[in-house]
Amino acid sequence: MRALDVGIIGSGTAGSAAAVFLARAGHRITMYERVPSPGPVGAGITLQPTGLHVLCQLGLYDHVVSRGARIDRLLCESTKQKTIVDLTYESAGEGLFGLGLHRGVLFEALYGSAQQERRVAIKTGVEVVDLARAESRGGAPSRWSWFVDVDRRRHGPHELVVVADGARSQLRDDTSTSKRVEPYPWGALWFVGRQPASLADARARTLYQVVDGNQTFLGFLPTGLLPVSLESSLSPSPRLVSLFWSIRGDRVRAWREAGLDAWKSKVRALAAEAEPVLDQIHDEGQLLYAGYHDVVMHRWHTRNVVYLGDAAHATSPQLGQGCNLALWDAMELRDCLEEEPRDLAAALACYSRRREEHLAFYQTATRLLTPFFQGDAEVLGHLRDLAMPLMGKVSIFKRMMTLSMLGVMDGFLGRTLTLRLPT
Ligand SMILES: Cc1cc2nc3c(=O)[nH]c(=O)nc-3n(C[C@H](O)[C@H](O)[C@H](O)COP(=O)(O)OP(=O)(O)OC[C@H]3O[C@@H](n4cnc5c(N)ncnc54)[C@H](O)[C@@H]3O)c2cc1C
Repeated sequence: MRALDVGIIGSGTAGSAAAVFLARAGHRITMYERVPSPGPVGAGITLQPTGLHVLCQLGLYDHVVSRGARIDRLLCESTKQKTIVDLTYESAGEGLFGLGLHRGVLFEALYGSAQQERRVAIKTGVEVVDLARAESRGGAPSRWSWFVDVDRRRHGPHELVVVADGARSQLRDDTSTSKRVEPYPWGALWFVGRQPASLADARARTLYQVVDGNQTFLGFLPTGLLPVSLESSLSPSPRLVSLFWSIRGDRVRAWREAGLDAWKSKVRALAAEAEPVLDQIHDEGQLLYAGYHDVVMHRWHTRNVVYLGDAAHATSPQLGQGCNLALWDAMELRDCLEEEPRDLAAALACYSRRREEHLAFYQTATRLLTPFFQGDAEVLGHLRDLAMPLMGKVSIFKRMMTLSMLGVMDGFLGRTLTLRLPT
C-alpha cells in the first residue's frame, strides 16, 4: 500500500504494537498519548502463546521472555482442595508455555521499539477527545480526520485513525456501528511483590488460583523481573509474584476501612504458603483496584477509523487474553493494509472480517465464564464446582479448555490460529 499518514490514539499494548508494525510497513505514524510521561506501571499479566507469536514478529520475543516467568500450568482449586481446573500448555504442543510478566516489561519493549522507529512521532500529554472530518479543497468532506484534544486544539489531520485508548475509550462514541459498553460490577485488588521461595517451590511455573464459591477468588501469578528502568544498578530485580484478590467494586471502600488483619486471615486460610507475600503488605494502599469493562462492537471500523485492543473489545481478565488480543489486532491490521494496498476502506473491512471469529470466541467465552468465578449469583459457584472437574475428565472438553487458554480458538467451529514460535 502507498504510505499512509496514520494517527494512533493511545500508546498502550495495542497502540504501540500498531505503531511499530505500521511504521515498519512504510507508513508515517503519529502516536498520541494523554499521559505526559508514560512509564512501566501495572500488575502481572499472562502472555499466551498467541501474544508470544506476535512478539516474535516484532523481534521482541527474546527480551520479553528473558524478563518473564515461564508458566507451564494453570491450577485452580476450591477450598476443599478439590481441583476445579488443571491445564498444562505442553499438552497442546511440545515447547508451548505462557509467560507471567510485569506489565511494565511489555510496555517498555513495545513503547521503546516505537520510540526507535524513524517513522513514528510520539506526542505525549495530548488527550484526544474527538475527531473532526477535514475538508478537501472544494469544501467537500475529505477522508482525513483532525484529532481534537481536551483543550479543543486540533492535531493532524490523519488519513487513517487507529483508536487504541483502552476500555474507557472516549472515541468509541464517534462510531456509527452498534456497540454495548458495560462496567462489570466485580474487579480485582492486586499487589506485586517478591516471590518467596516457599511459593516458588510449592507452585513452580504455575498460575495458581483458589476459589470459594464465586465470591472469593485468590490468584498468584509468577511475574518474572521488574522492568529494566525500575531496576537499580545496585540491586538487580528479585523474582516477583502478583497476588490478585477478587472483589466487587462497591465493596472496595469497606475493605480498605476494615484494615488488613481480617483480610490477611482469609488469605492465609486459603493458601498458607502466601504468608511471606502477606508479610510484604503493611498498608491497604499497597493493593490497587482494577475494574473491568465489557465492550462489544459489531464491527471494528468505519470509513477511515479502526478500533483496536480494549477500546474495541475489553472483557474481564478471566481468560488472561486482553494484551494477547490487542497484539494480534495490531498484527492483523498490518496484514490487511498489505493485502488491500490500493483501498483503505477495503483494508479496514478486511480487518473487521478477519478479527470476527477470534474475538467472538474470546468475548463470548469470557462473558459466559466470568460469573462462575466472580459474580453475584452464588449458585453459579456451586455449579462450577460440580461441572468443571467433570469436564476436565473428558478429553475433548479438556483439549478445548487448553486451546482456549492458549488464545488460539478462531471461532466456535474448532478452527485454531497457526503459531510460529522459536523451538
Ligand atoms: C486486573 C487485570 C488483569 C489483567 N490480566 C491480563 C492478563 O493476564 N493477560 C492479558 O493478556 N491481559 C490482561 N488484562 C487485560 C489487559 O491489561 C488489557 O487488555 C490491555 O492492557 C489492553 O491494551 P490496550 O492497549 O487496548 O489498552 P491500554 O493498555 O489501557 O492502553 C490505552 C492507552 O491509551 C491512553 N489513552 C487513554 N485515553 C486516551 C485519550 N483520550 N487520548 C490519548 N491517549 C489516551 C492510556 O493512557 C493508555 O496508555 C488484565 C486487566 C486487568 C484489569
